[in-house]
Amino acid sequence: MIHILKKIMATGVVTEDYDKGEVPERFRGQITIEKGECKNCCRCITSCPTKAIREQAGYLTIDHKACIFCGRCVERCEAEQLKHTSKYKLATCSSITANIGTLLGRKIQSIFGRSLHIRHVDAGSCNACDFEMNALSNPFYDLQQYGIDFVASPRHADMLMVTGVVTRNLTQALLMTYEAMPTPNLVMAVGACAASGQVFGSSYAMCGAVDKVLPVDIYVPGCPPRPQALLYGLLLTMDKL
Ligand code: SF4
Ligand code: SF4
Ligand code: SF4
Repeated sequence: MIHILKKIMATGVVTEDYDKGEVPERFRGQITIEKGECKNCCRCITSCPTKAIREQAGYLTIDHKACIFCGRCVERCEAEQLKHTSKYKLATCSSITANIGTLLGRKIQSIFGRSLHIRHVDAGSCNACDFEMNALSNPFYDLQQYGIDFVASPRHADMLMVTGVVTRNLTQALLMTYEAMPTPNLVMAVGACAASGQVFGSSYAMCGAVDKVLPVDIYVPGCPPRPQALLYGLLLTMDKL
């Protein structure tokens, strides 16, 4: 026992504030478009595996929900118009939530402001998003310090966190989990698969993004999003930032 206590004392506090920690040097975050001379060669558009880059009214746009940060567009752009950044705070509220604005924000804060219980459903992920989500509960990120925790039953959950593209075989399980939750509740789509459905494309086995089957309140882009990105999305939801 003394040996264990000595070890705990020697280790000290390992938990850190989620946005104080440095991201690794090689971390790939949000892609940005520089304000330079674009040659309109469209190589970035054709090289993007998830069709995240599009041209709209003569301008390039990047759908961050679909981007997997692979860097192909950056490599293919000879004019050096595209750049990787280390920005991971990319979580966004759905357009409906954002339009209702501060009223809904205040309501969410009053209901979920002190604690948030999450039920997770893997609707068809490659498991990388799930590993990052599991890391939230370790002593380093210590999700519980914010009053947030995972629960085993949807009946005790305020939020449904979905990872992976929605596969047809798991659609019913996902809908049943959502229907078993008390209202009001929130739905978070984690990762490019859940947020856009464009990683695997369309096939007989896929329904696509989570918002094809459920109303999504928060999208967390990334492939996978790092734990800090997930924490940012959760704290944004609870209006604790
Ligand atoms: S980083 Fe990859 S997925 Fe993202 S826009 Fe560029 S090519 Fe597309
Ligand atoms: S690859 Fe570069 S130069 Fe070509 S369209 Fe894309 S941003 Fe412009
Ligand atoms: S978003 Fe990327 S990491 Fe997450 S489930 Fe899809 S492929 Fe895997």
